[in-house]
Amino acid sequence: MMYKWATIIALCVVQINGYVIVDPELGVDPETLLPNVDTSGINGLSATGLYCNTGTRQSPIDIPYCVQKSLSALRIEGHGDVRPEGFTMLNTGSTAQISYNGLPVPTLSGGPLPKDSTYEFVQAHFHWGNDNVEGTEHAIHDTYGALEIHFVHRKSTYNDLATAIQHSDGLAVFGIIFSEQETNNTRLDKIIPNLANIITEGTTTTLDEDAMVWLEEVISAFQYYNYPGSLTTGDCNEVVNWIVMKRKVGISAAQVAKFRNLIGKDGYPIEEYRRHVQNLNNRVIKCARKDTSRFH
Ligand SMILES: [Zn+2]
Repeated sequence: MMYKWATIIALCVVQINGYVIVDPELGVDPETLLPNVDTSGINGLSATGLYCNTGTRQSPIDIPYCVQKSLSALRIEGHGDVRPEGFTMLNTGSTAQISYNGLPVPTLSGGPLPKDSTYEFVQAHFHWGNDNVEGTEHAIHDTYGALEIHFVHRKSTYNDLATAIQHSDGLAVFGIIFSEQETNNTRLDKIIPNLANIITEGTTTTLDEDAMVWLEEVISAFQYYNYPGSLTTGDCNEVVNWIVMKRKVGISAAQVAKFRNLIGKDGYPIEEYRRHVQNLNNRVIKCARKDTSRFH
């Protein structure tokens, strides 16, 4: 049945080893896509840490295709909840970072994550570029967005982040890509205007209890790409189970520009915070079927 389907629309879908390989944006022949990206000449920051130049499962990547698989339900719990204690947003000197105040800690489990494991939310942070054409770390089909947010989680059996990044199953990160639109996305009004309160490195501000409810519509779309990768900063430890959400969020150029007002460690505005894409090597990018994930 699946084979027949693959044959019928062979121009955009092929079947290998029992899996269906789907172009992330239907309509392009995946055989014309190169699994390894020529990263020369691509804008972005070069990382110099321990594994950044020697690793074989580095992030971010361009996602040229994905292998459609039936995965158990991915459970994304608590990230978009209203939280009476609110959120704290910090200028780290590199980016704006959001932590969740109070309990419970949001969690990720199921889906592509190891069986019977739970990953606990640590922090979320943003990446952006000099311009809105190449503003994200991940690309889909060589197309970037204007901004990307990463939600970092550590496996609950590791006591802290420092321990987790020493283990290949230590972290799970889900990313959401924002694409430029003409008008402001007012659903981000509980976050972006508050960037003005953290212009200086080390300063923090508190976000309202409903600052993250915009997440609900993104994650409830259920669809995502999944691949084994690394941190994109620091030592680029190869410890991240990456989940990149397929649904994008709109954002205006004026809204992205607010991130570039933040002052970094060097005393100058942070015009860019993104690593360029890395070679895929022999990694398989999975895409989950629409009906297998649940958002709570
Ligand atoms: Zn990141």
